[in-house]
Amino acid sequence: MSQSVTDRATTVLAENPGIMTLDGTNTWILREPGATRSVVVDPGPDDERHIQAVLAAAGEVGLVLFTHRHFDHTEALGRIVELTGAPTRSTDPEFTRDAEPLVDGETIVVDGLSIEVLATPGHTTDSTCFLVGAERTLLSGDTILGRGTTVIAHPDGVLGPYLDSLAHIRELIEEGLVERILPGHGPVITEPGAVVDFYLEHRAERLDQVRTAVEAGASTPREVVQVVYADVDESLWGAAELSVAAQLDFLR
Ligand SMILES: [Zn+2]
Repeated sequence: MSQSVTDRATTVLAENPGIMTLDGTNTWILREPGATRSVVVDPGPDDERHIQAVLAAAGEVGLVLFTHRHFDHTEALGRIVELTGAPTRSTDPEFTRDAEPLVDGETIVVDGLSIEVLATPGHTTDSTCFLVGAERTLLSGDTILGRGTTVIAHPDGVLGPYLDSLAHIRELIEEGLVERILPGHGPVITEPGAVVDFYLEHRAERLDQVRTAVEAGASTPREVVQVVYADVDESLWGAAELSVAAQLDFLR
């Protein structure tokens, strides 16, 4: 069930596959080599089998972190706190227990493991990435996924800040501070520069298409989706509408 990915990171895949979750939610367990206590990032859905697998891999949990407020990342909060007594921290105070909400730029240290907090609003306003500097590894939540592109979950998600967040991550990659991305869904990204470029290009391309569709008379998100996402499976149109709404908002 659990898979060791780097010297400090292990993943447990939740059994909640779907359109928005790809193969399921990746719960990440971080621990400094030789340390006792671990950090659990995104405990995932409230599924007892998943939670037990996470705890088996995590051992003593020193802290629980959340990349953002969506259900598929946070639902197990209550159960994890009940079983571990660990404090939880999120940018959104609603998912913070026995601790302070996360602050952009702060460094968290748990049993020798150092984690830098990076506010990356866009997918949601509270989206946050975590940088494990010792391994040049970025935990991206749903800001960057292991496959495909992410949804800007309008109205919580906003495109302008999302593009800024991608640009910020791009800078970290260019500075040599990020060599690998561990996403909230999908496989590990080993060529982060190429993936972030693809995200930026994809966004620019979609934005052009939306602009063209609007000029041609489409006005509602649905009408835009029917034109711009005509090549995409209809099961994804609901999610596409959220992204289009965010793009229409941005263009206004
Ligand atoms: Zn998710």
